[in-house]
Amino acid sequence: MKFDPASNIQDLLQFGEFGDVNPSITDSATYTFMEAKTMVDTFHGDQQGCFLYSRHWNPSNKYLADALAAMEGTEAAWVTASGMGAITSAILQLCSTGDHIVSSITTYGGTFAFMANYLRKFKIEVTFVDITNLEQVEKAIRPNTTMIYTESMTNPLLQISDLPALAEISRRHKVKLLVDNTFTPMMIAPAKLGADVVVYSMTKFINGKNDCVAGAICGTEEFIASLADVNTGTAMLLGPVLDPMRSSSIHKNLHTLHIRMKQHSHNAMFLASKFKEVGLKFLYPGMPEHPQHELMKELMNPDFGFGGMIAIDLETSERASQLMEMMQKEGVGYLAVSLGYFKTLFSNSGKSTSSEVPDDVQKKMGLSEGLIRFSVGLDHDIERTWQKIKHCLETLNII
Ligand SMILES: *Cc1c(COP(=O)(O)O)cnc(C)c1O
Repeated sequence: MKFDPASNIQDLLQFGEFGDVNPSITDSATYTFMEAKTMVDTFHGDQQGCFLYSRHWNPSNKYLADALAAMEGTEAAWVTASGMGAITSAILQLCSTGDHIVSSITTYGGTFAFMANYLRKFKIEVTFVDITNLEQVEKAIRPNTTMIYTESMTNPLLQISDLPALAEISRRHKVKLLVDNTFTPMMIAPAKLGADVVVYSMTKFINGKNDCVAGAICGTEEFIASLADVNTGTAMLLGPVLDPMRSSSIHKNLHTLHIRMKQHSHNAMFLASKFKEVGLKFLYPGMPEHPQHELMKELMNPDFGFGGMIAIDLETSERASQLMEMMQKEGVGYLAVSLGYFKTLFSNSGKSTSSEVPDDVQKKMGLSEGLIRFSVGLDHDIERTWQKIKHCLETLNII
């Protein structure tokens, strides 16, 4: 039986304070205690349903965190004010000065910048590897390595990480496997494939409305409790807490995620087949030409498809700019960064979301300056969308 995140959420009934089907939003920074001793216990981590202060935990965030843990199949979860808040909190909780990280070279630009530039302050070294080359990953591990870091589907090259194999390497070397699953919620369940910690930018598919930034960390009860520890918890002490108003709205959107993922995947698969027909150079994990297509089929949960992300390569950034501007004029979608929105979004990765990655590193990882990353929206009639894209491609003599 494959893991079924959508049914886990379906089975989850979370009753609000007054029987409200959407639990009431906790509009409080602090909480009262009837007995002074309970407050002391709560400070010492013995929470037992009590809330102390909203940077530590608040009920609205707890409802969302519980739903995310159910979706991910982890014991617990924590929600943060952004995806970077989740990634940096999880990394800083697991690593100390003098530690070493092995990371995929293709990651979100902000993650790359944090690892390549910021962690230096703490003398934490990072070796960047081609995550699809398991031998290279294993060779990069040193005695002081504490973590392997990757994205299930990497940004922006859409490589698929072999999570069971990476988990096996991690266990053998007693290091943690941390996985960013932002591109593939529900489709891939990293914790079920051996990841120790799963992080998300909920800004993208999970929320799906592009109205806020938010993040999540899913893992063991013990790890999540360590993040919230009043003396040593990174999340508690650095304070990237999600606002309860936002967690409540994201919580509602989580319940339509399975339907949205199916439609994103359906539309992206349709466009990929058209890109193939007209001979464009493209990347889509759902097509047999993709180097990790078979692996993707092995790892994915049934029913959610191959995801909403496609990339095409127009070789030069000038051609990419012309096409993106024209597609926006013709109403295909928006020339904007980000992804997982109901509208189609497109951007030139090398000049935007991966611009933190130096040019020579972009070349090394195989990122062409003419790469356009599409986050395909929830369009009802994707054939019409294709006709618009085709018109742009023909007008610009690309096909
Ligand atoms: C957007 C993104 C992030 C950063 O998340 P924010 O919510 O913008 O802080 C991290 N990882 C991936 C894969 C992303 O797409």
